[in-house]
Amino acid sequence: MALRNILKAGEPRLKKTSRVVTDFNDRLHQLLDDMKETLLDAGGVGLAAPQVGVLRDVILVMDTNREGLSEEEQIIELINPKIVEQSGTQTGPEGCLSVPGEYGVVTRPENVTVTAQDRYGNEFTVSGYGLTARCFCHEIDHLSGILFTELAERMLTPEELESGEE
Ligand code: ZN
Repeated sequence: MALRNILKAGEPRLKKTSRVVTDFNDRLHQLLDDMKETLLDAGGVGLAAPQVGVLRDVILVMDTNREGLSEEEQIIELINPKIVEQSGTQTGPEGCLSVPGEYGVVTRPENVTVTAQDRYGNEFTVSGYGLTARCFCHEIDHLSGILFTELAERMLTPEELESGEE
């Protein structure tokens, strides 16, 4: 495994649309292993392949709804993910490893259900609520070249960040 460099906002690859994965090969597994190590090292709750410069439909989401597991065990690998159901809304602060130190107020569904494939190509369905639902939406947006800063109704001020209102 190896750490990969996380691209920052302004990098053109973050604005591009990713392509569907069709080969569930060693190269994909290497990408997933590297992304997992990079996510854990960065201390984030999700990571999309375009953030490490790979324009493929691959995301990692840390399912914080699953308690009693280590951070590594909470990470779900999703290949070719699609949101198939959503309900409710939540409005709250959101950040991104590609936009370090900045947070914005974004409205997302409270519950989402996603279908995806695992690293071997097997299809599965997973649901999440709260932060996990927010994370599924945020990471899947990356695959369309969308950053949360484009969706935020406003960004948090330095004062709000300092007072811990994040
Ligand atoms: Zn992000």
